[in-house]
Amino acid sequence: MSNMDTKIQELIDISRSPKAQLKKYKEQGKKVIGVLPYYAPEELVHAAGMVPMGIWGTNTKTITRAKEYCATFYCTIAQLALEMLLDGTMDDLDGIITPSICDTLRPMTQNFRVAMGEKMPVIFLAHPQNRFEEFGIKFTMDQYHDVKKQLEKIASKAITPEELEHSIKVYNACRAELRRFVKLANDHCDVITPVKRSGIIKAHWFMLKEEYTEMLGALNDGLEALPVCDWKGTKVVTSGIICDNPKLLEAFEKNNIAIAADDVAHESRWFKTDAPETNDPVRDLAIQYTNRDHDVLLYDPKSAENRRGEFVANLVKESGAQGLVLFMQQFCDPEEMEYPYLKKALDAADIPHIKLGIDQQMRDFGQVETSLQALADVLSMRV
Ligand code: SF4
Repeated sequence: MSNMDTKIQELIDISRSPKAQLKKYKEQGKKVIGVLPYYAPEELVHAAGMVPMGIWGTNTKTITRAKEYCATFYCTIAQLALEMLLDGTMDDLDGIITPSICDTLRPMTQNFRVAMGEKMPVIFLAHPQNRFEEFGIKFTMDQYHDVKKQLEKIASKAITPEELEHSIKVYNACRAELRRFVKLANDHCDVITPVKRSGIIKAHWFMLKEEYTEMLGALNDGLEALPVCDWKGTKVVTSGIICDNPKLLEAFEKNNIAIAADDVAHESRWFKTDAPETNDPVRDLAIQYTNRDHDVLLYDPKSAENRRGEFVANLVKESGAQGLVLFMQQFCDPEEMEYPYLKKALDAADIPHIKLGIDQQMRDFGQVETSLQALADVLSMRV
C-alpha cells in the first residue's frame, strides 16, 4: 500500500468507527460532547478543552428504541441519532448540543431531553431566523453565551476569550484544508473516488480538528504533487443533507461518475464559511452564522430571486461537472420544499439532474443504481 493509500485508509477507518474514537478520547481523559446538526459552534466545545463529536444518524442501525419518542414522519437522521443515544453506542458522551433549525429538530430537542433524563446534559440551541440584523446577531450571541456557560459547567472550567480565539483559528485552518481537499479531489478523481471522498471528509466529525487538519494537510500535499487526472468518465455535483453511505456511493463508481464538488450539509455547507478572527470571539462565531448563505435551511430574505438555485447551478458549471445528483432525505421538509426552485435554476442553466429519495435505513440500492446508470448515459453525451 502506498503512503497516500495508507493516509486515505486511516481517515476512512476513522470515519467508520466513531465509537472507537469516542473510546480513544475518553481513555485520554478527555470529555466528549455530541454535536447534532446544524451549525452548532463546535469551537466552544474545543475551547473548553473537550472533544466535539458529530452525530448525524447512522447507516448501520434500524430504528427501534427511538420509536417510543419520535413521530414516524421524523427523518431517519434525527431518529437514528436518538437511537444511538439510547442503545448504548454513545453512553460515554458527557453531553450533547441539540440545535433546532428545522421543524423536525425543534421538537426533537425536547425528545432528546426527555429521553436522556439524568443520563447526560442536553444543551438546547436556537438559532434566529433573522440572522442579518443586529438584533439577530445579538440573539445568536446570547444563545452562544448560554451554550458556553453550560459547557463550562461540564468541563469544570471557564473558557477564556484567548482560548476561544485560538479554537476559531484551529477551526478556520481545518475548514481551509477541507476546501483545499474538495478542489484536489476534483482534480484527482481517479485517486479520490466518491467512497473515499466521503470517508475522508466525514472523519473530521469524529476527530480533534488539529489532528484531522494535520492528516488531511499531508494527504492534500501528496495529491497536489500528482499530475491532474485525465478523467474519462462523467462528473456531477452532489446536493442534499448527507450522502455518506458507501454502498450508495459505490453505484457512482460502477458508472464512472466522479464527484466534482458538493452542496451537501454534512460536507461543504459546513466548511465553506469561516469565522472572522477579531478580539470578540463569541461575536465572531455569531457573524460566521450570519455569513452562511445559499443554504436551504437558512432564511433568505431575497428567496424570490432564487439566489440559492443559481449558486448551485454555477457550482456545477464552475466545477466542470455535467450534472447534479440530489439526495433527498425522506421526510425532510426544507429540502423537499426547496426542490422546485432548485429544479427551475438547473433547467434554466440546462443542467441535467436526478433526485434520489434516500434514508439511513435503506439497504437496497438497485433503483439508485438504475437511475445513476441512466444519468451517466445522458451526461456522457455532454463530456
Ligand atoms: S434531514 Fe431535514 S428534517 Fe431531518 S434534521 Fe435534517 S433538515 Fe431536519
